[in-house]
Amino acid sequence: MLKKEEIINLLQTDDEPALLKRADEVRHQYVGDEVHLRGLIEFSNICRNNCLYCGIRKANKNAHRYRMSEEELIDTARKASDMGFKTIVMQSGEDMYYNTLRMCHIIESIKKFDVAITLSIGERSYDDYKAFKNAGADRYLMRIETTDKDLYHKLNPNMSWDKRHECLLMIKELGYELGSGIMVGLPEQSLESIAGDLLYLQKIGIDMAGIGPFIPHQDTPLKNEQGGTLSLALRTMAVMRILMKDINIPATTAMESLHPKGRIMALQAGANVVMPNVTEGEYRKFYELYPGKICVNEQPLQCRTCIGIKIQSIGRKIGLGYGGHNGKLPIMPQENRYKPL
Ligand code: SAH
Repeated sequence: MLKKEEIINLLQTDDEPALLKRADEVRHQYVGDEVHLRGLIEFSNICRNNCLYCGIRKANKNAHRYRMSEEELIDTARKASDMGFKTIVMQSGEDMYYNTLRMCHIIESIKKFDVAITLSIGERSYDDYKAFKNAGADRYLMRIETTDKDLYHKLNPNMSWDKRHECLLMIKELGYELGSGIMVGLPEQSLESIAGDLLYLQKIGIDMAGIGPFIPHQDTPLKNEQGGTLSLALRTMAVMRILMKDINIPATTAMESLHPKGRIMALQAGANVVMPNVTEGEYRKFYELYPGKICVNEQPLQCRTCIGIKIQSIGRKIGLGYGGHNGKLPIMPQENRYKPL
């Protein structure tokens, strides 16, 4: 158990390489050398919220809005599964077109492809979370963003920190694997605040922690802010690994947007998951949470191949199973496993 002071000290270490190396060792010891891939489908950028940092906030009139049809979404998932992905992550803005019935139909259809399903669609009712779980969803991803309530309420007008927190608890109670996380480098965010965030994630017992740098978007009220650095994001992620030794930690896409080797650096500083984009066509360009997003002109197979090569180049292997936390999902029978490309 680390205390807040100790976490702050680690976050501001003057020997960053040593911190990152320590996290890498913990990762190796507790979750091994497999890197689990999740195919990410960004299926709608329509959103009812107005988060100050986010490029797809409702008030951004410059965003080109899209929404995949149910068939399109299911088809994209099928192709990702054919490519070997054993987890499909479905992410969107808070788009209520996808009501309970539609979501359940999508989940049931995709579940037939023998994949683990992660949802990342924001705040919904308990009944929705329950229905999605019963339909076959395995994991849920929703960042708390920051545990500084004042900051949260400034950044997320008309939203309530307590409500988001409640949602995370509901999701956990319903038996999902719970992923949460934060952004670092938000305006007014201190290292002490980040230390508090990490302790919060530990306390609620997350199974996965996504930590990414805040990157200012030109069409948002935070366009003139500084944003987070890769260094701070890597440090925070490394401390998270030291704090929660066996959870899943993704090398986030935002890290790679700040540095061409961002994700590889993350994989060598505590991360064990990568979420390659499997969204097709122009949609990925339009799902612009922050500027400088990588791979907007690539197609799914290119992303899968590219990340596979990178992972192997650092002596790691691609996970062949569902890659759940603590093996919570059953290990797959040998004959169902796919052969890496
Ligand atoms: N509607 C879903 C998905 C949100 S988008 C939900 O509420 O959970 C996924 C994540 O992108 C957000 O949780 C936030 O942490 C991150 N994000 C949004 N804008 C960003 C920005 N400008 N820079 C970096 N990350 C950003």
